Amino acid sequence: MSLIFTPPAPTTLPIVGRDERFPVRRVFCVGRNYAEHAKEMGFTGREAPFFFMKPADALLVVESGQTGHMAYPSLTRDLHHEIELVVAIGTGGTHIRAEDAMQHVFGYAVGLDMTRRDLQSDMKKQGRPWEIGKAFEQSGPIGPLTPAAQAGDISKAAIWLQVNGQERQRSDISKLIWNIAETIEHLSSAWTLAPGDLIFSGTPEGVAAVQAGDTLEGGVSGLAPLKVAIDAP
Ligand code: MN
Repeated sequence: MSLIFTPPAPTTLPIVGRDERFPVRRVFCVGRNYAEHAKEMGFTGREAPFFFMKPADALLVVESGQTGHMAYPSLTRDLHHEIELVVAIGTGGTHIRAEDAMQHVFGYAVGLDMTRRDLQSDMKKQGRPWEIGKAFEQSGPIGPLTPAAQAGDISKAAIWLQVNGQERQRSDISKLIWNIAETIEHLSSAWTLAPGDLIFSGTPEGVAAVQAGDTLEGGVSGLAPLKVAIDAP
């Protein structure tokens, strides 16, 4: 078979302690999955989980010990940070039960669901899709994957984000409305999950704007940290 152009190489993530890399297939994101963040966005109560996606090539892969560089994106005046635990699927499946779900997890990473909040808000008001607010290039900075066996008990890990050394977000993975296993159960009832799929599990409260020149440092205890500089447009 001959192709009319050379397809881009797949997006791949470094893996802590391994030479092999993790090829990314799809990127699922969970909306409003911490109660305090749902409140700050104007919602209360435990809704059924809902999902949106980013293209795999919207990830900004940050190698171990490096600082990623994200150019301030076009069209927005309100670029928000959302620090998130990212779950990497190693074994696929459909209708995965929560009690079996953790066997499908390869590992975890720290990610940022960067959001053009003004554009997302406009789309929400009009009942239109969110892609322009969520799925643009470099909208998903992500650090190295830590294999699940090395990550410790992620279900009770702290999660935090600092901007220019000042704390903006801090919570605990135990505060997820839908925990990782339940999220996989819901997601795999709607899509057949496959190796390489990532799940951005949602952000805690404290989302706010960043500017060109800011440096973001995020972490989840037990995982490799993530550092990203916001560059001029
Ligand atoms: Mn998010």
